[in-house]
Amino acid sequence: MTPEKPVAYEDVVAARARIRGVAIRTPVMTSRTADARAGASLFFKCEQLQRVGAFKFRGAYNALARFTPEQRARGVLTFSSGNHAQGIALAAQLLGIPATIVMPSDAPAVKVEATLGYGAEVVRYDRYTEDREALGRRLAGERGLTVIPPYDHADIIAGQGTAAAELLEETGPLDALVTPLGGGGLLSGSALAARALAPGCAVIGVEPAAGDDGRRSFRAGAIVRIDTPNTIADGAQTQALGALTFPIIRALVDDIETVADDELVRAMAFFASRMKLVVEPTGCLAAAYALRGIDRFRGKRIGVILSGGNVDLARFCELTGSTR
Ligand SMILES: *Cc1c(COP(=O)(O)O)cnc(C)c1O
Repeated sequence: MTPEKPVAYEDVVAARARIRGVAIRTPVMTSRTADARAGASLFFKCEQLQRVGAFKFRGAYNALARFTPEQRARGVLTFSSGNHAQGIALAAQLLGIPATIVMPSDAPAVKVEATLGYGAEVVRYDRYTEDREALGRRLAGERGLTVIPPYDHADIIAGQGTAAAELLEETGPLDALVTPLGGGGLLSGSALAARALAPGCAVIGVEPAAGDDGRRSFRAGAIVRIDTPNTIADGAQTQALGALTFPIIRALVDDIETVADDELVRAMAFFASRMKLVVEPTGCLAAAYALRGIDRFRGKRIGVILSGGNVDLARFCELTGSTR
């Protein structure tokens, strides 16, 4: 990563122009029941309705649209089996760029199939004996591919910030903006947008209680690395914030909070039964926090990003089946 020029709001503006007409401008939804629970006015930005079912398409498309003709001809590689892989695979297909996705050999068949369906090449590795990053970088070197990581990249951060920019444009001033937090691409991009568009708006990231490296890093003022956390929020099982995302979060974010897995399950059930929305566990992080009905939000206008909806249906039923 070349740390020459920090990511700025102008990059979010440029990203919006690049993804216009390609990414979906997702709806902002409200619910009186949600407001009653939260004691606040909540505005849900529905990124589970984005292409590939998560906001990750925004950053992926923004990054690939900036490739030089030579980079385009050679192709892109990423090592991720989650929503970022789908985002890269679809963006690459739309732009006519060959994509290689490095995935563990025990990755769920549905994910492998979806990725293959977008025309990407899937390279499998054994997650117990091989290091995916080392393998990915070696492959990329041999084949001249450009590596696009899931969060620690300027174009990814700028692209992820476009969801918050759309939300704020639609709702007008908000008292707070709450987003899920994994490696910090979404949170740092959202903070850039909020600081520019809504100066008085507090920005809060929410991560799984089992993996609170973000909160610890934020408080310590230095990146804290943890073991892969055990949580149902599989999109936020990151071990550390990034070298690019952390300084932005530290400078522009007001707080980082955590929620437990059982709160995520209750939020999933709430969205399905009350709002007819399928939101994956990680996608519920920010909402689960807001739905607690906390004092700091009482009577205020709060933007909440629902970040994704990719959860296997059987798994969804298994998780939510026992909630009331
Ligand atoms: C990737 C992802 C996140 C976390 O995003 P970061 O940019 O890594 O912080 C949150 N929710 C969903 C659905 C995701 O796919």
